[in-house]
Order: sequence, then C-alpha cells, then structure tokens
Amino acid sequence: MQTNFENKVREAYRRALMRGELHFIESTVDKVTENGIEFEIFLAPSLAKKPSATHEQKNESQPKLKVNPFSPYSQDLFVQEYGKHVILLNKFCVVPNHLLVVTKEFEKQIEPLSQDDLNALWYCMMQIKSQQSLAFYNCGDFSGASQTHKHMQIIPLPSDIRFSPPINGIIYTYQNKKPGEIFDFTELPYVHYVVLLDPQKLSGHLGHSYQEEVGQYLIETYLSLLNSMIKEFGSSPPNASPSHLSYNFVLTHTWMMIVPRLSEKYEQISVNSLGFTGMFLVKSEEELEYVKKVGILRMLEGVAIPKSVRSNN
Ligand code: AMP
Repeated sequence: MQTNFENKVREAYRRALMRGELHFIESTVDKVTENGIEFEIFLAPSLAKKPSATHEQKNESQPKLKVNPFSPYSQDLFVQEYGKHVILLNKFCVVPNHLLVVTKEFEKQIEPLSQDDLNALWYCMMQIKSQQSLAFYNCGDFSGASQTHKHMQIIPLPSDIRFSPPINGIIYTYQNKKPGEIFDFTELPYVHYVVLLDPQKLSGHLGHSYQEEVGQYLIETYLSLLNSMIKEFGSSPPNASPSHLSYNFVLTHTWMMIVPRLSEKYEQISVNSLGFTGMFLVKSEEELEYVKKVGILRMLEGVAIPKSVRSNN
C-alpha cells in the first residue's frame, strides 16, 4: 500500500517527466564483487551531457554565471514542504523518484546536519513504505556535491535484490554490535565510522513528540560519528586544503555511516555518498572498464582516507 506521500511523489514525478522538466537517465548495471560486497556500477552515457553547476553563458565574453537551482526551485519538481525544508524531485535522476530535501533559507553545503535536517530526512524515509530507502548528504568540497545550497538526498532502493544497498552484504555480519557503538568494517581499506541504530528509539507513531524524540536521537547519533571523525583528524585531515572536513553521510533505517574525504575524484570519476554504499556511477564504457581495472575499493580508498594513515600516526 502506498502512502499519500508516495502518491504525491509519483504523481509529481510522472507530471514532471511528461512536461520534460525531469530527465530520467537510462543506465545499465554491472556487478563486481570485492571483499564480500557485490558493487553495482551504473553506466549512464547520457549523463555526460548533463549541465554542470556552473552554467556557462553562450557568449564566451560574458563572465560565468553560477545558478542556484534550489532558489528559486522549479515548481514542476516540488513535492511538498516540511518545516524548514522543501522536498523536490531530482531533475536528473538515475533512480526514479529520487528526492532532494533542500533548506528553504540558504545554508551552505559545508554545514553539518541539524536536527531539523535529520527530522526531514526521517520523515521522508518513514513515508516511503512500499520499498526500502536510503538518505545521504555529500558535505564539503571533496564530497562529490555539485551544489552549494544545503541539500540532502533520498533514493528509493530496489527490493528485488538480496542486499540493497550492496554494502548491506557485510553489515549483516556485524549485527552483534551494540546500537550506539561506533565501529568500522575490517573489509574496507578506508577510514569510516558506522553505528547501528537502536530500533526501540525509532519505534512509535509519527506524532509530534515522537518526531522530537527521534530527531533528538538521530542528531545525537550523527554527532557521535562526526565527533569521532573530528577527534581523529581534527578539522583538517592530512593533505586537505580547505580547513573544513569533507565527508559523506549515509542513513538507512538500521544504520548510519560517515566517510571522511580527501578528494572528490579518482582520476576523472567523481564519487559521492552512494559510492560508499556500493553504488557507483560512470558515464562511459571507458570509465566502466577503468573502474573494473583499478578496482572499486582501491578507488574508494583513493578518494577517502586510507586506513594505513592511522598506523603511520
Ligand atoms: P549533488 O550533485 O550531490 O550536489 O546533488 C545535487 C543534485 O541536484 C544532482 O543530483 C542534480 O541532478 C540535481 N539537480 C541539478 N539541477 C537541478 C534542478 N534545477 N532541480 C532539481 N534538481 C537538480
């Protein structure tokens, strides 16, 4: 059974697609297994034509214009408001019904998540009932974000595959961890911080005090991960040029993860939060072959912080 929210999303999606205001990017999926994770590599050749955040004017003599697509946002992509946020459809989506949760007032994409941000994400995730979903936040210059106006994202996940997202293939072997305990996966070569969520803290109905309590729980848990990262690497990890930390944040119904980042791209291939959940995106056959040749874990390690940095300190 679909919720009102899901109906609203699907209706807005159908309408925007029909009007040509939203572009579904066709892709094929290849699978590559490394260290027990069956990574999915999405090949989307038409993405190579997608406009970037900096729209160059046709007249080369004019200065480059930076356009903020979220202020004002396109009414055709609007789903609904939620407190201090608007929920929009992603204009260029590889997965149908990909949502953006955008702050109404301008905030920077380098800012940490607030309780309101997490409340809005959890609200959407709770309203998507007919399939699993995953929320993520690409924070900072090296995180793979293309827009500077604060936006979190939610993608509905396919339910017809065994592990969705693919990283769940190893998460299931860590079920002995206590909720709240911060740990990492020995299978992964880069620094990351994971925590299992406490189902008891997340149970209940969507009343006002439930939202308040869950929001409080989510922000505390997120801050515990963030503080672990800051404690270990300060606000500026080795070789990082800007003084703030870039990182990827992932939230599912059962766990949260933060991965600090040192670079946005491995060669020409940009990596964002989804890469760390096991979903990789490439724009050409050449890139696909390159990823397979180099190896996904090696690429992820290359854009994050290798665990070997720890033993050198
Ligand atoms: P990120 O690249 O992770 O910062 O996410 C920003 C997302 O915004 C991208 O996935 C784009 O596809 C999407 N996007 C770009 N322009 C628009 C727009 N005008 N309206 C809605 N979404 C957009």
